[in-house]
Amino acid sequence: MRVVVVGAGIAGLMAAQTLVENGHDVIVVDKGRSPGGRLATRRIDNATLDHGAQFFTVRDPLFKSHVEKWIASGVVTEWCRGFDSATQNNDGFPRYRGVRGMTDIAKHLANGLDVRCNTLAFSIAPGTTSKWQLNIDDGSALNADALIVTCPLPQTYALLVTADIELPDSMMRTEYDRTICLLAVLNQSSAVVSPGGLQNPDETFSFVADNAIKGISSAVALTLHANPQFSLEHWDAPPQDVHDLLLKQAKPWIGDATVVTSQVKKWRLATPLTIWPERHWANEMIVLAGDAFGGPKIEGAALSGLSAANYLQQII
Ligand SMILES: Cc1cc2nc3c(=O)[nH]c(=O)nc-3n(C[C@H](O)[C@H](O)[C@H](O)COP(=O)(O)OP(=O)(O)OC[C@H]3O[C@@H](n4cnc5c(N)ncnc54)[C@H](O)[C@@H]3O)c2cc1C
Repeated sequence: MRVVVVGAGIAGLMAAQTLVENGHDVIVVDKGRSPGGRLATRRIDNATLDHGAQFFTVRDPLFKSHVEKWIASGVVTEWCRGFDSATQNNDGFPRYRGVRGMTDIAKHLANGLDVRCNTLAFSIAPGTTSKWQLNIDDGSALNADALIVTCPLPQTYALLVTADIELPDSMMRTEYDRTICLLAVLNQSSAVVSPGGLQNPDETFSFVADNAIKGISSAVALTLHANPQFSLEHWDAPPQDVHDLLLKQAKPWIGDATVVTSQVKKWRLATPLTIWPERHWANEMIVLAGDAFGGPKIEGAALSGLSAANYLQQII
């Protein structure tokens, strides 16, 4: 069975790993330069910054069993047990992070899989020698007996236009929050205190992380996620204006430090606003998965990928 997975985020990689472990021939394609999707870590000079997902929590026993293996492999560690000073940063729930950054979790999962980065899937059409053909934007194509598509939903619809598969209306109407992210490397300690993360600290930001205190960066570097309201309001503003405004709003967290370098990154499809009631959706050997199915977090996306793989295993 040849399965092609579109998307090397956590959902696609969990699905691919499960299918490979069960003897299937799996190819994962991703348009990005490296696997991870919204698990994204960037290096700027000596600094390492997580600029997508910051941490994850674990509720489901199945996901827990995977996380325990990642911890044993030295890829994941506990960051803290909360960010709220009222509970002295300890509400009893572990927050996990990648030991060297969140992307490392994806790289670990991709190890041993046939993951083809810099590969933009362009369309899905009925195949001539197999059930489906995935067309790549360089003119090449991959044949597949089944496809698992894990892109955010608007990107998934674009791929499926040529597949003649009808999608539920409510799924097609799913909208996503946006996130504008400021990354700032500093010359000395920031004003963020241990454990190095602040949730909804003010009217602009939904999360502020000091990546040095977090434990992934040798240089002091802040990740500041603007909240959905700010991000929507300023999405189309000139990039330099948004950068300068965010830098100004970040002053309380920068403290007395000087900003050595800074840049803005935008996540257009950051968080799905409605979640499909099942962990995956399937029709004609095309399975849709990702955080719009399992829930808008790393755990939800991972469980959705596992659910998609298990579904295919049962029918093939
Ligand atoms: C700013 C931000 C902060 C977040 N913070 C947290 C957090 O702290 N904790 C938490 O649990 N969750 C957080 N999340 C959510 C979490 O990151 C996501 O729920 C999860 O990573 C989604 O995984 P996924 O595999 O479903 O999708 P993705 O990671 O988006 O993977 C989809 C992949 O598909 C690829 N792709 C898309 N179109 C194509 C195409 N045409 N061809 C080839 N490849 C394609 C993309 O490149 C991408 O790699 C955050 C998200 C953002 C954006």
